[in-house]
Amino acid sequence: MPHFVEVILPLSLAKTFTYSVSKTEYDYIKPGMRVAVPFGKSKIYTALAIELHQNEPQLYDAKEIHQILDEAPIVNEFQIAHWQWIASYYMCAIGDVYRSAMPSALILENETIISQKQDIFIDESQLSDDEFLIYQALQQTSSLKIENIISILNKKNVFPVIQQLLQKGILQLQEEMNETYKPKLIRYVRLHAEFQNPDNLNALLEILKSAAKQKDLVLAYFQLNSARKPITVKQLIETANSSATVVKALIEKGIFEEYHIQHDRVNFDENLQEMTLELSNAQQLAFDEINYNFEVKDVNLLHGVTSSGKTEIYIKLIETILEKGKQVLYLLPEIALTTQLVSRLTAYFGNKVAVFHSKYSNNERVEVWKQLLENSPKAQIVIGARSALFLPFSNLGLVIVDEEHEQTFKQVDPAPRYHARDAAIVLANSHKAKVLLGSATPSIETYYNTQSGKYGLVEIFERFGKVQMPEIHLVDLKDKYFRKKMSGHFSDELIESIREALSLGEQIILFQNRRGYSPVVECMTCGHVPQCAQCDVSLTYHKHKNQLRCHYCGYSMANPTNCHVCSSVDLTTKGFGTEQIQQELIALFPNSKIGRMDQDTTRGKFGFEKIIDSFKNREIDILVGTQMLAKGLDFDNVSLVGIMNADNMLYHPDFRAFERSFQMMTQVSGRSGRSEKRGKVIIQTYNPNHNTIQQVTQNDYSAMYKEQLYDRQIYKYPPYFRLIKVTLKHRDYEKLKEGSMWLYQVLQQNLALPVLGPEEPPVSRIRNEYIRTIMIKIPQNLPLTGTKKTVQKILDSFDMVSQYRAIKTAVNVDF
Ligand code: ADP
Ligand code: ZN
Ligand code: ZN
Repeated sequence: MPHFVEVILPLSLAKTFTYSVSKTEYDYIKPGMRVAVPFGKSKIYTALAIELHQNEPQLYDAKEIHQILDEAPIVNEFQIAHWQWIASYYMCAIGDVYRSAMPSALILENETIISQKQDIFIDESQLSDDEFLIYQALQQTSSLKIENIISILNKKNVFPVIQQLLQKGILQLQEEMNETYKPKLIRYVRLHAEFQNPDNLNALLEILKSAAKQKDLVLAYFQLNSARKPITVKQLIETANSSATVVKALIEKGIFEEYHIQHDRVNFDENLQEMTLELSNAQQLAFDEINYNFEVKDVNLLHGVTSSGKTEIYIKLIETILEKGKQVLYLLPEIALTTQLVSRLTAYFGNKVAVFHSKYSNNERVEVWKQLLENSPKAQIVIGARSALFLPFSNLGLVIVDEEHEQTFKQVDPAPRYHARDAAIVLANSHKAKVLLGSATPSIETYYNTQSGKYGLVEIFERFGKVQMPEIHLVDLKDKYFRKKMSGHFSDELIESIREALSLGEQIILFQNRRGYSPVVECMTCGHVPQCAQCDVSLTYHKHKNQLRCHYCGYSMANPTNCHVCSSVDLTTKGFGTEQIQQELIALFPNSKIGRMDQDTTRGKFGFEKIIDSFKNREIDILVGTQMLAKGLDFDNVSLVGIMNADNMLYHPDFRAFERSFQMMTQVSGRSGRSEKRGKVIIQTYNPNHNTIQQVTQNDYSAMYKEQLYDRQIYKYPPYFRLIKVTLKHRDYEKLKEGSMWLYQVLQQNLALPVLGPEEPPVSRIRNEYIRTIMIKIPQNLPLTGTKKTVQKILDSFDMVSQYRAIKTAVNVDF
């Protein structure tokens, strides 16, 4: 009887594949172990064994596996089952799920590129022969493909040795970057112990007799020191009107010594060991209610206004789960938020906290993976963005999905296009674990589930410490422009409030949503606006580099001096983005430090953290930013939030536009006044009477919910209908038009459901590919599985039509 192993390949293939194995291999391999297998002409892939059997494949001759890569499973059965669920629910290939679930160091293939890590000491005597050969080869060339290594070592089975070198930290994968981020440390100085004794003061001044600048600095130090607070280098230099060189000289002389304090917003650093967390009455009530609800409902929503202290409730809950020896998964919408949260959680749970996200290096990710496999106490609590969902949990007790309304939980491209919140609920269910969703502005879908009784609901309507909700002022832009009360994009009222906050040493956040309203260059003579050559969008003007750029494909050109159509030099910029706001601010408040946070300024690996850090450290007075600012950050010194223009969010062509506008405005407003003083929010708008804006002003989530729900029902949208969006792309406009019409008609004929389209999306060409979409709406009470099967069948037959084969299709379930 022949023996076979069924494997998943890390390729976009819907099927699993059968390989033949010997009897010994058959007995050795367990599901969840990796095997290297040949596939295609000469390629070797890291496949995942999921089943051992004796059923010969019907359609092809089973090839032999190349090699077994593990001694024990590195993927557990919970994961395999969950990945299969994702593939089936989100209509994608199991290979896509496997590929995105595994850290790439664990799924090496011929094409993978490796290089040697810089700046490390390597003890050559500790290397095996094969390891040494690779090491030596990398002295000649900066990087190698695994294919090259196969020929260098003159053998096919090179994955294990490479994996060892990766683990030893000698090699790294191409994709990795070397930088690691250290939270910003503030430099402080103090007098060296020897000179702290007043008796030595004269001796000190004697030393400094011939160094006037140093003496001035020391005197300034004494002056500041009378306040008995730590003195920052910055403060000292400012007071003495001196320079960093002078400070350095004093440190070298041993008069000053420098020390650092890590600046986290959390004030726990005072007494880390004795830290106990006292919940407020409102928090305690919510906590008890959640536990009570968990008895009967596995999923609960914690709906608590901004700054109600949801994090502390999570912490208390985590404590109870840890006592039971179970694991906790804490999902965040944005990896940039982890820094803040990690420092808060480690303060309580120390090294039980592990962090996992896609920007981490491969080694770090593999390490967390391994810790979870071993059920290590070091990874009892895992914090991460959506991909943390794929880790080898074996004993989950609780999943927290913080800011559950955030759209970044839904992966858009590439497949698997999963929703991390929903997939987390399924995962938790397989572990019989509880789920807590948290938000100040829950998604309509989730809130609907609490109203229908599917999820439990716990609400907090007050802020922690009884801090008042911010006071929201509406500024009518139409009126302000009419009465000439505007300077650029700033109303007199906003300017006045900024001035006041600055004079009190408080910080300010200004929010400008650039989506759908970017600055463009327009010809005043003929109206021409420069377009991207490859995409169907106007180019965006970037003042700083004096460039026009395409936000879809990255194309850029120098800002033209005259119109390319009529040669007129009368060009003007239209629309405004964060950059223009920043420019105007600099002119209005020349003495203040102004920072900007958007996709352009946060591009580097830790760009986001760096800006957040300087803001927290109060090196920035006014921070201008896009929606990134709306995501659960906690600053204690912000007393004013300004929303530059509320209207461009509202009029976005999307059925969620009002919901998202409400969430965004409420969340940014929530950054204001998080400590004792009541915060202020100024919203500039042409539509002060718009329902959504009124709902934000009155902090009336429930009115927003009711209004939106009503519309969703009438226009057949979630939560009443589920959406499946099919996107089609091709370089030939006519062919795409024809093909999408074909697909639309077949779907229409075979599904007794509303099918919409084929539609051209607002940006209907990207990188020279034209785009069309078709939307299928499925009523909530209809079983989804049957519909999906039909859709899949139709897509398969679409692929069989020879003239349409080249049209790419992508399916997005729960769009
Ligand atoms: P939310 O996540 O609901 O917006 P946070 O959890 O960030 O609110 O809490 C807001 C602020 O109140 C934070 O600075 C937090 O440290 C503080 N805080 C909340 N609960 C407590 C508590 N029980 N004890 C001390 N400080 C708390
Ligand atoms: Zn022109
Ligand atoms: Zn482009």
